[in-house]
Amino acid sequence: MSLIVQKYGGTSMGSVERIQNVARRVAKWHAAGHQVIVVPSAMSGETNRLLGLAKELSAQPDPREQDMLAATGEQASSALLAMALIAQGVPARSYAGWQVPVRTDNSYTRARIRAIEGTRIREDLDAGRVVIVTGFQGVDEDGNITTLGRGGSDTSAVAVAAALQASECLIFTDVDGVYTTDPRVVPAARRMKVVSFEEMLEMASLGSKVLQIRSVEFAGKYQVPVRVLSSLTDPLIPLEEEMASGTLITFEEDQKMEAAVVSGIAFSRDEAKFTLRAVPDTPGVAYSILGPIAAANIDVDMILQNVSVQGMTDFSFTVNRNDALRTHDLLSTQVGPAVGAGEIVYDDTVCKVSIVGIGMRSHAGVASAMFRTLSQEGINIQMISTSEIKTSVIIDDKYMELAVRALHKTFELDQEK
Ligand code: ASP
Ligand code: MG
Repeated sequence: MSLIVQKYGGTSMGSVERIQNVARRVAKWHAAGHQVIVVPSAMSGETNRLLGLAKELSAQPDPREQDMLAATGEQASSALLAMALIAQGVPARSYAGWQVPVRTDNSYTRARIRAIEGTRIREDLDAGRVVIVTGFQGVDEDGNITTLGRGGSDTSAVAVAAALQASECLIFTDVDGVYTTDPRVVPAARRMKVVSFEEMLEMASLGSKVLQIRSVEFAGKYQVPVRVLSSLTDPLIPLEEEMASGTLITFEEDQKMEAAVVSGIAFSRDEAKFTLRAVPDTPGVAYSILGPIAAANIDVDMILQNVSVQGMTDFSFTVNRNDALRTHDLLSTQVGPAVGAGEIVYDDTVCKVSIVGIGMRSHAGVASAMFRTLSQEGINIQMISTSEIKTSVIIDDKYMELAVRALHKTFELDQEK
């Protein structure tokens, strides 16, 4: 008998029939003698619907109230799943984040989990119940409901698995695993059977939307084995078969994994690029520009400072497109005047394309193969950043799909290795 955490995404919870299917799958695990904790997302479309209502009332809804509202989506789906299980004869109980409690900091709409109290969950498990814990939410020190940011149920599930020392965290979703790239862009993309934790961390941060990045960070920190697999298979498929499907995120890197130079291609359209022109090139300029941005809790991604000409330089950086408005405000009202910058240029027609692979550590020339491919396609590179296991470029977003397809081919990702 082991303790398993299972997370079900919005599509998997999308209708009464689908919830019944989730219940059947959970019941199968329960009947096999496992202790099961389920972490569901809201029914598909529900979070968007709720946030849409909020936006109708205010362009910038009060963050506390927005979390109060958004958290109801998971409360509904969790209760429905408990009812479905009970109707199928499986004892089950659902809890909202605050009841567990899942303790978070107080940054509404993007809270971080600090601790999860396991006592109540354990009592139910020991009493033979399936325990359902709402994804996406928690409670701050003052008892306010918080949410973890879009896609946050993944993080809830991994955090619950870490806190209760589950033997695996299964992320059931509408795809059957993690692919070498998005199959909607490259139909020849392949499912990876295993991916190293580090690669997954890069893929998630670079725009592969399969898992919320924080869930991967959590998995790494607490060494929780995570498997991404399909919830659209027959719910009664044998357990062994289910456990061998999907993509396992592993902490053990073997030689076979390193033999592949590039494991995946990630991309993201959520990019916005800012350039401050004619900034005086003096000590402290980068800090004067990026300090206020960081203080406003905006993550800066790529940074580029040009060679200076007559003591002046251009300074560019990218942020998530969601933060573009706030960044623009800060630059034009505060930062620009303070550093004596010339024009502030904003560009949201850019995207980021990245190649990822732990094999890049031991192979030379990988980045140049990427640049060659892009040049052959006539794609101009605007910014570049590298780490040990990835190379990312910022390019015009109208070339995104072309770039991804060409790179997928260059690195032979369509071929089974
Ligand atoms: N329901 C939330 C969202 O749509 C959280 C999640 O599904 O992971 O972002
Ligand atoms: Mg998701």
